[in-house]
Amino acid sequence: MEGKQLGNRSSKENNIKQTFWPGNRRGAGGVGGCSRLMGGQKHSPLAVRLEANGTMEHGKLTEALKAEARQLGFDLVGVCPAGPPPHLKAFQQWLQAGYAGQMHYFHRRVLAYEHPRFLLKGVRSLVMLGMNYRTVEPQATATGQGRISRYAWGSDYHELIRRRLRRLAQWLVQQVPEAKVRGVVDTAPLLERSFAQQAGLGWIGKNTVLIHPRLGSYLFLAGLLTTVELVYDEPFDRQHCGRCQACLDACPTGALVAPYVLDARRCISYLTIELRQMPPQELRLKMGDWLFGCDRCQEVCPWNRPPVVLEERGRYESGKVSQNWESWNHLPVVSEEAAFYPGPGCNPANAVEILGLTEDQFRERFRGSPLWRAKRAGILRNAALVLGNRPSEQGLAALCQALQDKDPMVRAACAWALGRYPDPKARYALQHALTAERVEQVRQEIQNSLQDLLC
Ligand code: SF4
Ligand code: SF4
Repeated sequence: MEGKQLGNRSSKENNIKQTFWPGNRRGAGGVGGCSRLMGGQKHSPLAVRLEANGTMEHGKLTEALKAEARQLGFDLVGVCPAGPPPHLKAFQQWLQAGYAGQMHYFHRRVLAYEHPRFLLKGVRSLVMLGMNYRTVEPQATATGQGRISRYAWGSDYHELIRRRLRRLAQWLVQQVPEAKVRGVVDTAPLLERSFAQQAGLGWIGKNTVLIHPRLGSYLFLAGLLTTVELVYDEPFDRQHCGRCQACLDACPTGALVAPYVLDARRCISYLTIELRQMPPQELRLKMGDWLFGCDRCQEVCPWNRPPVVLEERGRYESGKVSQNWESWNHLPVVSEEAAFYPGPGCNPANAVEILGLTEDQFRERFRGSPLWRAKRAGILRNAALVLGNRPSEQGLAALCQALQDKDPMVRAACAWALGRYPDPKARYALQHALTAERVEQVRQEIQNSLQDLLC
């Protein structure tokens, strides 16, 4: 998500030190349904008017392109010129500080982040797009249940957005046949949030997420890069966090080490999605019942107040936040995309059941879902940690069973979780497992838990 824009940055914006692009707070891979596109591509209501020389004038083309994007189901659309992303230096500092943890792909592609021309030769404009994924509200979890981040409740958004980007790209090429275009959603080296701010879609909050004044921060971001010159929007150069720091106070693991600075190595999203090993000891209890991702720093954000409040907000925020408020009133604060609504067992998830999934069952259940990214071993590890943090009878039985799992990381997580069960069955299962376990790290987890239970 990320220049006339470069010169227009406000002093507040310059205070933004860092933003985090978690392929995790959003994930990857899969399929998606698309309620708005059923019945085929709809046509822009805005008539395309060509100039005498056969091309559309920049302003009209930009407006028609935006109308087409909205027609395709993008809630937010703005355009900015191609240039170095405003947050490039902060991003580089973030990498140098080691905050990316094991997400080595950031380091491997660090040069490509410097300019979108590394994604599309001759690029002049970035059309930045946002889709609201807020649907129903999260259900409270009972013992044996875990929470999944909202963005991952439905089918994987990448495929859905890619299809729409392709249609938008086709539309643009129909208007400007010599145009080169490239759609980007999440996986290319583009600081999407930084460009989204430049395109006027919102500001980057202290929780490092892009926030739109009406829609809040439950937004998927994407970009269409093109060699076509368009008319650019004003950057969103106001910062509406003010003195609030609710997100920093609420983060269970202290991952927001300063306003706008996220240490991904401590972030539950990273720990449950990206990390391919056991999370550090000192963070495991703090991960609570999060099975995949974490929304805590967004849940507490006043800009994500419940939909009913959001609907009312225009009355008192109009004029205070932005003179644009009226132009946002049509935006639904709850998404109309069927694909983003929770699938069965997602809100919340049954950690006991998940911990018992075989490879085939895992594939059947999670292929095409954002949870696929963490793979079976990651999801079962997370389920075990949830059951360790929320002990129950059923959880105990499931953990004892999965202590025999074929994957050492799952066994290690079960061993740790059983250490939270002051029950003779847990101790017996650990002692029994120790006699057969050959992997040193798992043995260590078992021994630590036995020690905890004997204390
Ligand atoms: S609350 Fe903390 S752990 Fe959770 S997503 Fe935000 S920064 Fe990460
Ligand atoms: S919780 Fe407060 S400080 Fe954090 S992003 Fe929201 S408004 Fe900004």
